[in-house]
Amino acid sequence: MTNDEETYLICAEVRDNDNVSMVPGTIQIACADCGRQVWCAPSGQRLLMSDEQTVIAVCNACGLKRMLEEEDEVEITIPPGAYGEISRALRQPPVP
Ligand SMILES: [Zn+2]
Repeated sequence: MTNDEETYLICAEVRDNDNVSMVPGTIQIACADCGRQVWCAPSGQRLLMSDEQTVIAVCNACGLKRMLEEEDEVEITIPPGAYGEISRALRQPPVP
């Protein structure tokens, strides 16, 4: 991957009455394409702040749309540490 390529971070949409995050430190941010609120866990937040690559957070629907419509290959990533975050969270009760 080169520095001028964009990488997409697919984030789960925040649904109505869904204000509890499974992973501690998760925040709500806006999808870069449609503006809907999505969840962004700490691993994703670190990736978005990376100086080494351009990372764009999008919701599931917008990520799929980009994959289907863009002519160039679309880079989608799972942030380093995401698997550990989720597996730890699954063993604990939800936190607000
Ligand atoms: Zn979107």
